[in-house]
Amino acid sequence: MENDWQPETRAIRGQMDKTAYGEHSAPLFLTSSFTFGGAEEMAATFRGETGQIIYSRYNNPNVDELIEKACALEGTAAGFATASGMAAVFASVAALLQQGDHIIATRALFGSTHQLLTSVFPKWGITFSYVEPDDPDSWAAALQPNSRMFLTETPSNPGLKLVDLAAAGEFCQTNGLLFVVDNCFATPCLQRPADYGADLITHSATKWMDGQGRVLGGLLLGSAEVLERVTFFCRHTGPAMAPFNAWIISKSLETLHVRMEAHCRSALALAAWLQGQAGVAAVHYPFLPSHPQYALAQRQMKAGGGLVSFELAGGLTAAQRLIDSALLCTRSSNLGDTRTILTHPATTTHAKLSPEERAAVGISDGLVRMSVGLEALADIQADLLRGL
Ligand SMILES: *Cc1c(COP(=O)(O)O)cnc(C)c1O
Repeated sequence: MENDWQPETRAIRGQMDKTAYGEHSAPLFLTSSFTFGGAEEMAATFRGETGQIIYSRYNNPNVDELIEKACALEGTAAGFATASGMAAVFASVAALLQQGDHIIATRALFGSTHQLLTSVFPKWGITFSYVEPDDPDSWAAALQPNSRMFLTETPSNPGLKLVDLAAAGEFCQTNGLLFVVDNCFATPCLQRPADYGADLITHSATKWMDGQGRVLGGLLLGSAEVLERVTFFCRHTGPAMAPFNAWIISKSLETLHVRMEAHCRSALALAAWLQGQAGVAAVHYPFLPSHPQYALAQRQMKAGGGLVSFELAGGLTAAQRLIDSALLCTRSSNLGDTRTILTHPATTTHAKLSPEERAAVGISDGLVRMSVGLEALADIQADLLRGL
């Protein structure tokens, strides 16, 4: 792949070597294993001398192509692709930490990541402390002698608070912490955590990267050194992405830039419009001047992202009425689709949190999360008006 091309060009033009047929679009390699011409070639491959592919739990042409494109977009040297985003988040901690280590994590993480920290990793003696995403000055108070990792997501779900990536990079550098960012919500089109010193970037490729709600996928991206440890862990524990899913997501990355531009354009327009609607008490969107971290958003992100969350003055009843009135927007917990999706976090994705925990991450009963799709803006507005 030409290294001097722009990331979006490399995401379009990056492709595995052509086969003898000279196909224009990459074929799908549905094969679990690969063959060798002779015993010595096979032995040399197992010694790591030929770079030939051995087995699809390790790698596969479709998976390798996806990783190369994702690295071009994120500006990282190496990667590993997993069957889902959660497999990537799990591996980021399991591969790099050990018993007795401590994680500093920003509050308001993706729900299953919260479950990993609270219910899974403690089984192996890995503990954590939550810090406030929007208050970097408070993070140092959470440091312990065994703190090894800073784990964060920005913008947060569903409150859309931002974490200052430059401040986080400095905090990790000063305190010798591994800097791990789940960049699923922003995508590398809007921000590149590696530019701020992130050691490891995880993705749920299920969301904006596929962008069409079809397959699950996850990515771990970072320096060659960090990925060597991640790859060792993943090769031998087996969360590998299927070639079919890699083929789908690799094609999707060819349009990620134009899709994100369109998602962000509609999201900003809807956020501004919602602010003027009766019954809407608050709108959260990083590129609205009323967002408390608007200046940071302008500095750190190229656009505000495809998610908008808003609070209805009428609380639970009003939120459920809005969601029930929708004829175009879909009721689903997913996000990052061509189709606009409405979710009621308090009773679904975040229902397992106590009311106090929900309050701490800004999830009121009247909060609605909207993943803005690619439908005509006027049609989305008309659909929302039905329930407002
Ligand atoms: C969806 C999501 C995940 C988990 O990804 P899956 O592909 O569903 O396993 C992790 N982090 C964030 C921010 C997500 O939105």
